[in-house]
Amino acid sequence: MMQDHSHDDTIIVRGGTLVTETALLRADLRIQGERIVGIEQDASTHAADRTIDATGLLVLPGGVDAHVHARDPDEPLIEGFHTATMAAAAGGITTIIEMPQAVPLAADGDSFRIRREAAVKNAVGDVAMYGAVVGGTTTPDDLAAMREAGAIAFKAFMVGGSAGMVPVSDSDIMRTLEALRDTGMIFTVHAENADLVAAGIRRMREAGQVEPLAHARSRPAPYEAEAVQRAIFLAEVTGGRLHIAHVSCQLALEFIQAAKTRGVNVTAETCPQYLVMDVSDLARKGGFARCAPPLRTRGDVEALWRGLADGSLDFVCSDHCGYTIASKEAGWNDIFAAPQGLSVIQHMLPVVYDNAIHVRGWSWPDIVRRTATAPARLFGLAPRKGALTIGADADIVLYDPNAEATVTREGLLTRQKWSAFEGRSYRGRVVRTIVRGHDVYENGTIVRGHDVYENGTIVAAAGSGRFLTPEYANAAGATA
Ligand SMILES: [Zn+2]
Repeated sequence: MMQDHSHDDTIIVRGGTLVTETALLRADLRIQGERIVGIEQDASTHAADRTIDATGLLVLPGGVDAHVHARDPDEPLIEGFHTATMAAAAGGITTIIEMPQAVPLAADGDSFRIRREAAVKNAVGDVAMYGAVVGGTTTPDDLAAMREAGAIAFKAFMVGGSAGMVPVSDSDIMRTLEALRDTGMIFTVHAENADLVAAGIRRMREAGQVEPLAHARSRPAPYEAEAVQRAIFLAEVTGGRLHIAHVSCQLALEFIQAAKTRGVNVTAETCPQYLVMDVSDLARKGGFARCAPPLRTRGDVEALWRGLADGSLDFVCSDHCGYTIASKEAGWNDIFAAPQGLSVIQHMLPVVYDNAIHVRGWSWPDIVRRTATAPARLFGLAPRKGALTIGADADIVLYDPNAEATVTREGLLTRQKWSAFEGRSYRGRVVRTIVRGHDVYENGTIVRGHDVYENGTIVAAAGSGRFLTPEYANAAGATA
Protein backbone atom coordinates (compact mmCIF):
# COMPACT_ATOMS: atom_id res chain seq x y z
CA MET A 1 0.00 0.00 0.00
CA MET A 2 2.72 2.49 -0.88
CA GLN A 3 1.63 6.02 -1.55
CA ASP A 4 1.22 6.76 -5.22
CA HIS A 5 -1.21 9.66 -5.21
CA SER A 6 -0.01 13.06 -6.28
CA HIS A 7 1.65 15.51 -3.96
CA ASP A 8 -1.26 17.90 -3.90
CA ASP A 9 -4.02 15.44 -3.10
CA THR A 10 -6.83 16.77 -0.98
CA ILE A 11 -7.91 14.64 1.96
CA ILE A 12 -10.88 15.30 4.22
CA VAL A 13 -10.90 13.80 7.70
CA ARG A 14 -14.61 13.69 8.50
CA GLY A 15 -16.71 13.33 11.59
CA GLY A 16 -14.00 13.35 14.25
CA THR A 17 -13.46 15.40 17.38
CA LEU A 18 -10.36 17.58 17.09
CA VAL A 19 -8.12 18.12 20.09
CA THR A 20 -6.93 21.70 19.77
CA GLU A 21 -4.68 23.52 22.22
CA THR A 22 -7.58 24.65 24.35
CA ALA A 23 -10.68 22.61 23.56
CA LEU A 24 -12.34 19.60 21.99
CA LEU A 25 -13.90 20.66 18.71
CA ARG A 26 -16.33 18.64 16.52
CA ALA A 27 -14.95 19.53 13.10
CA ASP A 28 -13.71 18.21 9.77
CA LEU A 29 -10.14 18.68 8.74
CA ARG A 30 -8.99 19.42 5.20
CA ILE A 31 -5.49 18.44 4.09
CA GLN A 32 -3.85 19.49 0.87
CA GLY A 33 -0.52 17.92 0.07
CA GLU A 34 1.47 18.02 3.29
CA ARG A 35 -0.50 20.72 5.11
CA ILE A 36 -3.71 21.33 7.00
CA VAL A 37 -5.62 23.86 4.90
CA GLY A 38 -9.05 23.90 6.54
CA ILE A 39 -10.86 23.25 9.82
CA GLU A 40 -14.62 23.53 9.49
CA GLN A 41 -17.80 22.09 10.88
CA ASP A 42 -18.75 20.39 7.63
CA ALA A 43 -16.24 20.02 4.82
CA SER A 44 -18.48 17.83 2.66
CA THR A 45 -19.05 20.64 0.15
CA HIS A 46 -15.35 20.57 -0.75
CA ALA A 47 -14.03 18.25 -3.43
CA ALA A 48 -11.58 15.68 -2.11
CA ASP A 49 -9.40 12.95 -3.57
CA ARG A 50 -9.93 10.91 -0.43
CA THR A 51 -12.15 11.00 2.63
CA ILE A 52 -11.15 9.41 5.93
CA ASP A 53 -13.99 8.60 8.30
CA ALA A 54 -13.12 9.63 11.86
CA THR A 55 -16.59 9.24 13.32
CA GLY A 56 -16.35 8.43 17.03
CA LEU A 57 -12.62 9.07 17.09
CA LEU A 58 -10.40 11.81 18.46
CA VAL A 59 -8.23 13.65 15.94
CA LEU A 60 -4.94 14.51 17.67
CA PRO A 61 -1.86 16.38 16.50
CA GLY A 62 0.95 13.83 16.07
CA GLY A 63 3.08 13.44 19.19
CA VAL A 64 6.52 15.05 19.31
CA ASP A 65 8.91 12.83 21.27
CA ALA A 66 11.91 15.02 22.07
CA HIS A 67 14.17 12.36 23.61
CA VAL A 68 14.74 9.15 21.61
CA HIS A 69 17.79 6.96 21.14
CA ALA A 70 18.17 5.34 17.71
CA ARG A 71 21.70 4.11 17.11
CA ASP A 72 22.38 4.01 13.37
CA PRO A 73 24.89 3.32 12.01
CA ASP A 74 25.98 1.16 14.98
CA GLU A 75 26.94 -2.45 14.30
CA PRO A 76 25.22 -4.44 15.61
CA LEU A 77 22.27 -2.09 15.60
CA ILE A 78 20.22 -2.41 18.82
CA GLU A 79 17.72 0.27 17.81
CA GLY A 80 17.53 2.23 14.58
CA PHE A 81 15.70 5.08 12.92
CA HIS A 82 13.50 2.67 10.96
CA THR A 83 12.19 0.58 13.85
CA ALA A 84 12.11 3.48 16.33
CA THR A 85 9.99 5.63 14.01
CA MET A 86 7.72 2.69 13.14
CA ALA A 87 7.07 2.05 16.83
CA ALA A 88 6.63 5.79 17.32
CA ALA A 89 4.01 5.94 14.55
CA ALA A 90 2.17 2.96 16.04
CA GLY A 91 2.10 4.92 19.29
CA GLY A 92 0.84 8.19 17.80
CA ILE A 93 4.21 9.96 17.52
CA THR A 94 5.02 11.64 14.21
CA THR A 95 8.22 13.52 15.08
CA ILE A 96 11.18 12.34 17.14
CA ILE A 97 14.21 14.29 18.32
CA GLU A 98 17.07 11.86 18.45
CA MET A 99 20.05 11.71 20.80
CA PRO A 100 23.68 11.65 19.63
CA GLN A 101 24.99 8.46 21.27
CA ALA A 102 26.05 6.10 18.50
CA VAL A 103 29.18 5.03 16.66
CA PRO A 104 30.16 7.50 15.43
CA LEU A 105 29.09 9.80 18.19
CA ALA A 106 27.49 12.87 16.59
CA ALA A 107 30.00 15.28 18.12
CA ASP A 108 31.25 17.25 15.12
CA GLY A 109 29.94 18.28 11.70
CA ASP A 110 31.12 15.20 9.80
CA SER A 111 29.88 12.58 12.25
CA PHE A 112 26.60 14.46 12.59
CA ARG A 113 26.11 14.26 8.81
CA ILE A 114 26.74 10.50 8.82
CA ARG A 115 23.99 10.05 11.40
CA ARG A 116 21.67 12.49 9.63
CA GLU A 117 22.06 10.45 6.46
CA ALA A 118 21.05 7.31 8.35
CA ALA A 119 17.93 9.11 9.59
CA VAL A 120 17.00 10.33 6.12
CA LYS A 121 17.43 6.83 4.67
CA ASN A 122 15.50 4.92 7.32
CA ALA A 123 12.88 6.97 9.14
CA VAL A 124 9.15 6.67 8.42
CA GLY A 125 8.37 9.69 10.62
CA ASP A 126 10.04 13.08 10.84
CA VAL A 127 13.36 13.37 12.69
CA ALA A 128 15.38 16.16 14.23
CA MET A 129 18.69 15.41 15.93
CA TYR A 130 20.77 16.46 18.89
CA GLY A 131 24.53 16.97 18.68
CA ALA A 132 26.83 15.75 21.48
CA VAL A 133 28.88 17.80 23.90
CA VAL A 134 31.77 15.62 25.09
CA GLY A 135 33.58 16.42 28.33
CA GLY A 136 36.92 18.16 27.76
CA THR A 137 36.83 18.06 23.96
CA THR A 138 33.79 19.75 22.37
CA THR A 139 34.67 23.28 21.27
CA PRO A 140 32.49 26.22 20.24
CA ASP A 141 33.63 25.50 16.66
CA ASP A 142 32.29 21.94 16.96
CA LEU A 143 28.95 23.32 18.13
CA ALA A 144 28.81 25.69 15.17
CA ALA A 145 29.71 22.87 12.74
CA MET A 146 27.00 20.60 14.16
CA ARG A 147 24.47 23.39 13.96
CA GLU A 148 25.48 23.97 10.34
CA ALA A 149 24.98 20.22 9.73
CA GLY A 150 21.44 20.43 11.16
CA ALA A 151 21.66 19.92 14.92
CA ILE A 152 18.57 21.23 16.66
CA ALA A 153 20.00 21.14 20.22
CA PHE A 154 22.96 19.78 22.21
CA LYS A 155 23.25 17.13 24.90
CA ALA A 156 25.82 16.38 27.58
CA PHE A 157 26.15 13.96 30.46
CA MET A 158 27.15 15.18 33.91
CA VAL A 159 27.56 11.52 34.97
CA GLY A 160 29.37 8.54 33.41
CA GLY A 161 27.81 5.46 31.91
CA SER A 162 27.13 6.21 28.26
CA ALA A 163 29.80 5.04 25.81
CA GLY A 164 31.73 7.91 24.26
CA MET A 165 29.84 10.54 26.22
CA VAL A 166 32.63 11.61 28.57
CA PRO A 167 30.92 13.51 31.41
CA VAL A 168 31.21 17.29 31.25
CA SER A 169 32.89 19.29 33.99
CA ASP A 170 31.39 22.46 35.41
CA SER A 171 33.71 24.50 33.19
CA ASP A 172 32.57 22.50 30.12
CA ILE A 173 28.95 23.30 31.01
CA MET A 174 29.77 26.96 31.51
CA ARG A 175 31.67 27.22 28.23
CA THR A 176 28.84 25.51 26.32
CA LEU A 177 26.15 27.71 27.85
CA GLU A 178 28.19 30.79 26.92
CA ALA A 179 28.89 29.57 23.37
CA LEU A 180 25.18 28.89 22.75
CA ARG A 181 23.79 31.89 24.62
CA ASP A 182 23.30 34.08 21.57
CA THR A 183 21.97 31.30 19.33
CA GLY A 184 18.94 30.54 21.51
CA MET A 185 19.74 26.84 21.11
CA ILE A 186 18.95 24.39 23.87
CA PHE A 187 21.69 22.75 25.92
CA THR A 188 20.35 19.63 27.62
CA VAL A 189 22.08 17.87 30.48
CA HIS A 190 21.65 14.45 31.99
CA ALA A 191 21.94 15.68 35.55
CA GLU A 192 23.30 13.32 38.20
CA ASN A 193 26.36 13.92 40.38
CA ALA A 194 29.14 11.76 38.83
CA ASP A 195 31.24 11.46 41.99
CA LEU A 196 28.33 10.54 44.26
CA VAL A 197 26.93 8.01 41.77
CA ALA A 198 30.33 6.33 41.29
CA ALA A 199 30.73 6.09 45.06
CA GLY A 200 27.17 4.80 45.43
CA ILE A 201 27.74 1.97 42.97
CA ARG A 202 31.06 1.11 44.63
CA ARG A 203 29.36 1.02 48.03
CA MET A 204 26.67 -1.36 46.79
CA ARG A 205 29.15 -3.68 45.13
CA GLU A 206 31.42 -3.80 48.19
CA ALA A 207 28.43 -4.74 50.33
CA GLY A 208 27.50 -7.47 47.83
CA GLN A 209 24.25 -5.71 47.02
CA VAL A 210 23.54 -6.39 43.35
CA GLU A 211 19.79 -7.05 43.50
CA PRO A 212 17.50 -4.74 41.46
CA LEU A 213 16.77 -2.29 44.27
CA ALA A 214 20.51 -1.73 44.80
CA HIS A 215 20.42 0.30 41.57
CA ALA A 216 17.98 2.81 43.09
CA ARG A 217 19.92 2.90 46.37
CA SER A 218 23.18 3.60 44.52
CA ARG A 219 21.87 6.89 43.06
CA PRO A 220 19.15 8.37 45.31
CA ALA A 221 17.20 11.54 44.57
CA PRO A 222 19.67 13.98 46.18
CA TYR A 223 22.40 12.84 43.74
CA GLU A 224 20.17 13.95 40.86
CA ALA A 225 18.98 17.12 42.57
CA GLU A 226 22.53 18.28 43.32
CA ALA A 227 23.48 18.14 39.64
CA VAL A 228 20.23 19.84 38.64
CA GLN A 229 20.81 22.76 40.99
CA ARG A 230 24.48 23.06 39.92
CA ALA A 231 23.55 23.18 36.23
CA ILE A 232 20.87 25.74 37.05
CA PHE A 233 23.45 27.84 38.90
CA LEU A 234 25.72 27.80 35.83
CA ALA A 235 22.80 28.78 33.58
CA GLU A 236 21.93 31.59 35.95
CA VAL A 237 25.42 33.08 36.08
CA THR A 238 26.00 32.76 32.32
CA GLY A 239 22.48 33.67 31.17
CA GLY A 240 22.59 30.57 28.96
CA ARG A 241 19.62 28.40 28.06
CA LEU A 242 19.46 25.11 29.94
CA HIS A 243 17.23 22.07 29.63
CA ILE A 244 17.09 19.28 32.21
CA ALA A 245 16.56 15.80 30.76
CA HIS A 246 14.33 13.16 32.38
CA VAL A 247 13.55 14.68 35.77
CA SER A 248 12.62 11.82 38.10
CA CYS A 249 12.20 13.20 41.61
CA GLN A 250 10.50 15.86 43.70
CA LEU A 251 13.75 17.30 45.05
CA ALA A 252 15.10 18.07 41.55
CA LEU A 253 11.70 19.40 40.56
CA GLU A 254 11.74 21.84 43.48
CA PHE A 255 15.07 23.31 42.33
CA ILE A 256 13.62 23.75 38.83
CA GLN A 257 10.45 25.37 40.19
CA ALA A 258 12.48 27.82 42.26
CA ALA A 259 14.75 28.66 39.31
CA LYS A 260 11.82 29.28 36.98
CA THR A 261 10.22 31.51 39.61
CA ARG A 262 13.28 33.74 39.71
CA GLY A 263 13.51 33.87 35.94
CA VAL A 264 16.34 31.47 35.10
CA ASN A 265 16.26 30.32 31.47
CA VAL A 266 15.64 26.66 32.29
CA THR A 267 13.17 24.08 31.01
CA ALA A 268 12.69 20.44 31.93
CA GLU A 269 11.20 17.17 30.77
CA THR A 270 10.04 13.97 32.39
CA CYS A 271 9.28 10.53 30.97
CA PRO A 272 6.39 8.06 31.10
CA GLN A 273 8.37 5.62 33.23
CA TYR A 274 8.65 8.24 35.99
CA LEU A 275 4.95 9.11 35.67
CA VAL A 276 3.41 5.63 35.83
CA MET A 277 6.08 3.39 37.41
CA ASP A 278 7.91 3.49 40.72
CA VAL A 279 10.70 1.71 42.52
CA SER A 280 8.48 -1.33 43.12
CA ASP A 281 8.56 -1.89 39.33
CA LEU A 282 12.37 -1.98 39.53
CA ALA A 283 12.12 -4.74 42.13
CA ARG A 284 9.71 -6.72 39.93
CA LYS A 285 11.20 -6.11 36.48
CA GLY A 286 14.91 -6.01 37.36
CA GLY A 287 17.08 -5.00 34.41
CA PHE A 288 13.98 -4.30 32.30
CA ALA A 289 13.28 -1.35 34.59
CA ARG A 290 16.88 -0.20 35.02
CA CYS A 291 17.20 3.37 33.83
CA ALA A 292 19.07 6.48 34.98
CA PRO A 293 17.91 8.30 36.96
CA PRO A 294 16.26 5.25 38.56
CA LEU A 295 12.55 4.78 39.20
CA ARG A 296 11.61 6.62 42.40
CA THR A 297 8.94 6.58 45.12
CA ARG A 298 5.17 7.02 44.77
CA GLY A 299 5.62 10.45 46.33
CA ASP A 300 7.97 11.42 43.51
CA VAL A 301 5.48 10.15 40.92
CA GLU A 302 2.74 12.35 42.39
CA ALA A 303 5.09 15.36 42.56
CA LEU A 304 6.00 14.97 38.87
CA TRP A 305 2.32 15.03 37.84
CA ARG A 306 1.86 18.21 39.87
CA GLY A 307 4.96 19.68 38.23
CA LEU A 308 3.61 18.78 34.80
CA ALA A 309 0.29 20.40 35.68
CA ASP A 310 1.79 23.68 36.94
CA GLY A 311 4.32 24.00 34.10
CA SER A 312 7.46 23.37 36.15
CA LEU A 313 7.95 20.40 33.84
CA ASP A 314 7.53 21.46 30.22
CA PHE A 315 6.81 18.20 28.44
CA VAL A 316 6.83 14.40 28.43
CA CYS A 317 9.24 12.40 26.23
CA SER A 318 10.17 8.73 26.10
CA ASP A 319 13.96 8.55 26.52
CA HIS A 320 13.40 5.38 24.51
CA CYS A 321 16.41 3.03 24.35
CA GLY A 322 16.59 -0.35 22.68
CA TYR A 323 18.76 -2.90 24.42
CA THR A 324 18.81 -6.63 23.81
CA ILE A 325 16.68 -8.86 26.02
CA ALA A 326 19.80 -10.87 26.90
CA SER A 327 21.62 -7.76 28.12
CA LYS A 328 18.64 -6.80 30.28
CA GLU A 329 18.30 -10.38 31.63
CA ALA A 330 21.83 -10.05 32.98
CA GLY A 331 20.34 -7.74 35.61
CA TRP A 332 18.83 -10.68 37.50
CA ASN A 333 22.30 -11.80 38.65
CA ASP A 334 23.76 -8.34 38.95
CA ILE A 335 21.57 -5.31 38.40
CA PHE A 336 24.64 -3.22 37.57
CA ALA A 337 25.33 -5.49 34.57
CA ALA A 338 22.09 -4.50 32.80
CA PRO A 339 22.42 -1.45 30.52
CA GLN A 340 20.49 1.66 31.57
CA GLY A 341 17.53 2.69 29.45
CA LEU A 342 13.99 1.58 28.70
CA SER A 343 12.06 0.54 25.63
CA VAL A 344 8.83 2.53 25.89
CA ILE A 345 8.25 4.55 22.73
CA GLN A 346 5.39 2.49 21.28
CA HIS A 347 3.13 2.77 24.31
CA MET A 348 4.26 6.06 25.83
CA LEU A 349 1.33 8.15 24.61
CA PRO A 350 -1.50 5.62 25.14
CA VAL A 351 -0.22 4.86 28.66
CA VAL A 352 0.33 8.52 29.61
CA TYR A 353 -2.97 9.60 28.02
CA ASP A 354 -4.82 6.87 29.89
CA ASN A 355 -3.28 7.88 33.21
CA ALA A 356 -3.82 11.60 32.63
CA ILE A 357 -7.42 11.29 31.44
CA HIS A 358 -8.82 8.35 33.37
CA VAL A 359 -6.82 8.40 36.60
CA ARG A 360 -6.09 12.10 37.08
CA GLY A 361 -9.01 13.75 35.35
CA TRP A 362 -6.92 15.84 32.94
CA SER A 363 -8.47 17.24 29.77
CA TRP A 364 -7.30 16.06 26.36
CA PRO A 365 -5.94 19.49 25.38
CA ASP A 366 -3.90 19.62 28.60
CA ILE A 367 -2.12 16.31 28.05
CA VAL A 368 -1.74 16.76 24.27
CA ARG A 369 -0.14 20.14 24.87
CA ARG A 370 2.55 18.46 26.95
CA THR A 371 3.25 15.65 24.49
CA ALA A 372 3.09 17.57 21.21
CA THR A 373 2.62 21.33 21.34
CA ALA A 374 5.09 22.23 24.09
CA PRO A 375 8.07 20.21 22.80
CA ALA A 376 7.44 21.45 19.23
CA ARG A 377 7.53 25.05 20.46
CA LEU A 378 10.54 24.59 22.67
CA PHE A 379 12.68 23.12 19.88
CA GLY A 380 11.55 25.67 17.29
CA LEU A 381 9.41 23.23 15.28
CA ALA A 382 6.18 25.16 15.80
CA PRO A 383 4.02 26.23 14.04
CA ARG A 384 4.65 23.37 11.60
CA LYS A 385 4.58 20.69 14.31
CA GLY A 386 2.63 20.03 17.48
CA ALA A 387 -0.85 21.45 16.92
CA LEU A 388 -3.84 21.16 14.60
CA THR A 389 -3.81 24.59 13.00
CA ILE A 390 -4.22 25.83 9.45
CA GLY A 391 -0.84 25.88 7.73
CA ALA A 392 0.65 23.24 10.04
CA ASP A 393 2.03 19.97 8.71
CA ALA A 394 -0.75 17.39 8.44
CA ASP A 395 0.70 15.20 11.22
CA ILE A 396 -2.46 13.60 12.49
CA VAL A 397 -3.39 10.71 14.74
CA LEU A 398 -6.86 9.17 14.78
CA TYR A 399 -7.40 7.85 18.27
CA ASP A 400 -10.04 5.64 19.85
CA PRO A 401 -10.09 6.71 23.51
CA ASN A 402 -12.28 3.82 24.64
CA ALA A 403 -10.57 0.73 23.23
CA GLU A 404 -8.86 -1.49 25.80
CA ALA A 405 -5.52 -3.16 25.38
CA THR A 406 -2.61 -4.76 27.21
CA VAL A 407 1.06 -4.26 26.36
CA THR A 408 2.64 -7.51 25.15
CA ARG A 409 5.88 -8.30 23.34
CA GLU A 410 3.89 -9.53 20.38
CA GLY A 411 3.38 -6.77 17.88
CA LEU A 412 6.10 -4.46 19.15
CA LEU A 413 7.66 -2.67 16.21
CA THR A 414 10.83 -1.74 18.07
CA ARG A 415 13.97 -3.62 17.08
CA GLN A 416 14.18 -5.33 20.47
CA LYS A 417 10.93 -7.03 21.41
CA TRP A 418 10.47 -5.95 25.00
CA SER A 419 8.85 -3.02 26.72
CA ALA A 420 9.08 -1.64 30.24
CA PHE A 421 5.26 -1.49 30.11
CA GLU A 422 4.71 -5.20 29.41
CA GLY A 423 1.63 -6.48 31.22
CA ARG A 424 0.13 -3.02 31.66
CA SER A 425 -3.48 -2.59 30.58
CA TYR A 426 -4.73 0.73 29.33
CA ARG A 427 -7.61 2.39 27.54
CA GLY A 428 -6.94 3.92 24.14
CA ARG A 429 -5.76 2.94 20.69
CA VAL A 430 -4.01 4.59 17.79
CA VAL A 431 -6.22 3.85 14.78
CA ARG A 432 -4.26 5.69 12.10
CA THR A 433 -1.14 7.86 11.95
CA ILE A 434 -0.60 10.37 9.14
CA VAL A 435 2.67 12.25 8.62
CA ARG A 436 2.57 15.32 6.36
CA GLY A 437 -0.54 14.06 4.65
CA HIS A 438 0.59 10.50 3.96
CA ASP A 439 -0.47 7.39 5.82
CA VAL A 440 2.25 5.82 7.93
CA TYR A 441 0.35 3.51 10.26
CA GLU A 442 -3.06 1.85 10.06
CA ASN A 443 -4.73 -0.29 12.65
CA GLY A 444 -8.08 -1.51 11.48
CA THR A 445 -8.46 -5.02 12.81
CA ILE A 446 -9.53 -6.57 16.07
CA VAL A 447 -8.02 -9.99 16.44
CA ARG A 448 -7.85 -11.03 20.05
CA GLY A 449 -10.86 -9.57 21.80
CA HIS A 450 -9.82 -6.35 23.39
CA ASP A 451 -6.18 -6.62 22.46
CA VAL A 452 -6.43 -4.62 19.27
CA TYR A 453 -3.34 -2.50 19.58
CA GLU A 454 -0.85 -5.00 18.34
CA ASN A 455 -2.23 -5.61 14.91
CA GLY A 456 -1.53 -2.45 12.98
CA THR A 457 0.51 -2.11 9.84
CA ILE A 458 3.18 0.32 8.73
CA VAL A 459 2.27 1.47 5.23
CA ALA A 460 5.08 3.95 4.58
CA ALA A 461 8.51 3.14 3.17
CA ALA A 462 11.78 3.65 5.02
CA GLY A 463 13.04 7.09 4.13
CA SER A 464 9.59 8.70 3.86
CA GLY A 465 10.36 10.71 7.00
CA ARG A 466 11.88 14.15 6.71
CA PHE A 467 14.92 15.56 8.49
CA LEU A 468 13.99 18.69 10.40
CA THR A 469 16.63 21.39 10.64
CA PRO A 470 16.56 24.24 13.17
CA GLU A 471 15.27 26.48 10.38
CA TYR A 472 12.41 24.15 9.42
CA ALA A 473 9.49 25.90 11.06
CA ASN A 474 10.39 29.39 9.88
CA ALA A 475 11.80 28.62 6.45
CA ALA A 476 8.96 26.30 5.52
CA GLY A 477 6.41 28.76 6.88
CA ALA A 478 7.66 31.38 4.44
CA THR A 479 6.72 29.24 1.44
CA ALA A 480 3.19 28.51 2.70
ZN1 LIG B 1 18.43 9.49 27.05
